[in-house]
Amino acid sequence: MLNIIIFGAPGSGKGTQSDLIKEKYNLLHLSTGDLLRAEIASGSELGKIADSYISKGQLVPDEMIIEILDNAIEEKEKNGKYNGIILDGFPRTVAQAEALELLIKKRNRDITILLDLMVEENELVERLVNRGKTSGRCDDNLETIKKRLEVYHEKTKPVNDYYKKQNKYTVIDGSGNIDNIFDRVCKVIDIINEDENVAS
Ligand code: AMP
Repeated sequence: MLNIIIFGAPGSGKGTQSDLIKEKYNLLHLSTGDLLRAEIASGSELGKIADSYISKGQLVPDEMIIEILDNAIEEKEKNGKYNGIILDGFPRTVAQAEALELLIKKRNRDITILLDLMVEENELVERLVNRGKTSGRCDDNLETIKKRLEVYHEKTKPVNDYYKKQNKYTVIDGSGNIDNIFDRVCKVIDIINEDENVAS
C-alpha cells in the first residue's frame, strides 16, 4: 500500500502532481480543497461555513476537515479498488497530522511518505495570480494569496517536522516544467515501491 501525502505551499503544484500520480500508481486522490469546494457548490450548511474561511484565506477548523476527510475515505474506497491514497492539502496543521495517524491506523495502514514540493515564493505568487485568471476560485487573488502564504508558513510548514521525526519526509524540487517535476516525484515513489516489494 502506498499512502502518500503531497505537501507544499499554495501554488506548489500539489493538485497537478496528484492527478498524474494517482493515474500512474492507481491511488485514491483526496483533495480537501476539492471536498470543501464541492460542499460549497452543493449549498450545504457545512459549505457555507467553509466558504467563510476559504474566501479569507484562512484554514477551516481542524475538527470539521478531519470529519470531512474521514467520511470521504469511507465513501470513496467503497466505490473502487486502489493501491493506496494520495492526500492533497491535508494535513495542514500538526493537530491534523496527529488525527491522521489515528484515522489511518484504524484502517490498519500507515503513511508511507510525505513529498514536499519546494517552490520559490515569487514563482508561487505568479502561478496563483495566473491561475486566478481562469480558475474562478475566490481565493486566487493577490490579497488572499498573501494571506494563504502567511497561514502556510505559520500553521502548515511545522507539519514537516512531524514527518521528519518519523523519517518520512522527502523534499522535491517543484520548480519548472510539470513533466520534469513528475519525473522527480516518480523516482522517489519507485524507490519506495522497490523497497516494499523486497520487504514483502
Ligand atoms: P486548496 O485547494 O488545497 O488550496 O485549499 C483551498 C482552501 O481550502 C484553503 O486555503 C483552506 O481555506 C481550505 N482547506 C483545504 N484543506 C484544508 C485543511 N486540510 N485544513 C484546513 N483548511 C483547508
